[in-house]
Amino acid sequence: MDRVIIVGAGLAGVRAAEALRARGYEGALTLVGAEPHLPYDRPPLSKAVLMGRADDTTVAADWTALRCELLLGHRATGLRLDDVRGGTVETTAGELPFDGLVIATGSSPVRLPGDGSQHVLRTIDDARALRAGLREGARIVLVGAGWIGAEVATAAAGAGCAVTVVEAADTPLAVAVGPEIGARTEPWYAEAGVELRCGVKVAAVEAGGLVLADGGRVEADEIVVGVGVRPEVGWLAGSGLDVDGGVVVDGSLRTNRPEIVAVGDCAAWWSARYGRRLRVEHWDTALNAPETAAASLLGEEAVYDPVPYFWSEQFGRMVQYAGQHQGAGRLVFRGDPEKAEWSACWLSGTRLSAIVTVNRPRDLVQARRLMAAGTPVDPEALADPEVPVRNA
Ligand code: FAD
Repeated sequence: MDRVIIVGAGLAGVRAAEALRARGYEGALTLVGAEPHLPYDRPPLSKAVLMGRADDTTVAADWTALRCELLLGHRATGLRLDDVRGGTVETTAGELPFDGLVIATGSSPVRLPGDGSQHVLRTIDDARALRAGLREGARIVLVGAGWIGAEVATAAAGAGCAVTVVEAADTPLAVAVGPEIGARTEPWYAEAGVELRCGVKVAAVEAGGLVLADGGRVEADEIVVGVGVRPEVGWLAGSGLDVDGGVVVDGSLRTNRPEIVAVGDCAAWWSARYGRRLRVEHWDTALNAPETAAASLLGEEAVYDPVPYFWSEQFGRMVQYAGQHQGAGRLVFRGDPEKAEWSACWLSGTRLSAIVTVNRPRDLVQARRLMAAGTPVDPEALADPEVPVRNA
């Protein structure tokens, strides 16, 4: 292999470049990124950057040592595959032939219908534009009480804005962690002076406010939409690569063409651990999956099958989650969810399926280790927050 192209200059893209060189790849390497910026970290955008505590989150990387050509501000527009191996990426900078390809194009926020102006929060430019609108007294209306909505609400309330969050589901975080845990976060909004309106569907964004499905209106100076993301895979249409709610890859992150791998938010990989395909839109995946993808691209045997993990910082709390709670039978609380520190564990029989922790990072680390090993736990001991999360 002597010509590798990486498409997508986010965290997964830079990590892929580093992993390829670390594994001894000596050929030509090109990173194509639609944004004009060097790869940067996104988690601080809805935290430190919005709060004015950071303005630059560029990922530290030695591009000279990596011998990686950067084509920033250029977008891949199509992919042509040769009959047996390799192909050409069509880009706004011209055609780039390859014999190895890493797809790391991430995801893009869903927008709402309507011609009123709406902020989304995906890029550093989005974050800077939104930050400028977080003026004291400004009416900030957020659509979606998911991770992004909660974090933006935290920053906006901290800036002295009048914040309203409108959520279609009956609780915050209903999709991410289910309504039972989501409901435990509701009081956090009121404590921060944020108005939370659940069970409210938005029809459209108009100048100066939201139009609701029931005909009502919510007036706003700034509207922020945080209702989810879609994988950036449109440029692969018609290429012959399998795409189904993300780039379809096996447990080694290879597509249906072994010289093409996919990583990060855009990749839907086969997890033997969970017996289904996972697409995880979180930082830990973008950080770690490229190691496996690089090994696979270079012909080594490697498998990516972690217990998924993410965190969120909202309303002064560190919220962390690991595992997959869907289909788990029983929820066990560790500590009082009305207090500052607590956790909740999902169990399938005596196995941990998932954990959510609030200001209890130690629980998270211990539980993730047990889930990775598949070790059984004692549900009675688990319910005691004084006892570490440990095997039965
Ligand atoms: P991306 O970061 O989306 O990078 C993909 C890059 O590819 C982009 O720069 C894009 O412009 C480019 N691209 C797309 N299409 C093309 C194309 N056709 N040609 C060329 N380039 C293209 N996760 C957590 O676990 N915890 C958090 O607290 C957390 N906070 C977050 C806060 C915010 C505001 C956001 C937006 C995300 C947050 N995440 C968090 C999620 C995490 O940042 C993402 O999972 C991670 O950035 C995914 O990395 P990626 O490299 O796969 O994709």
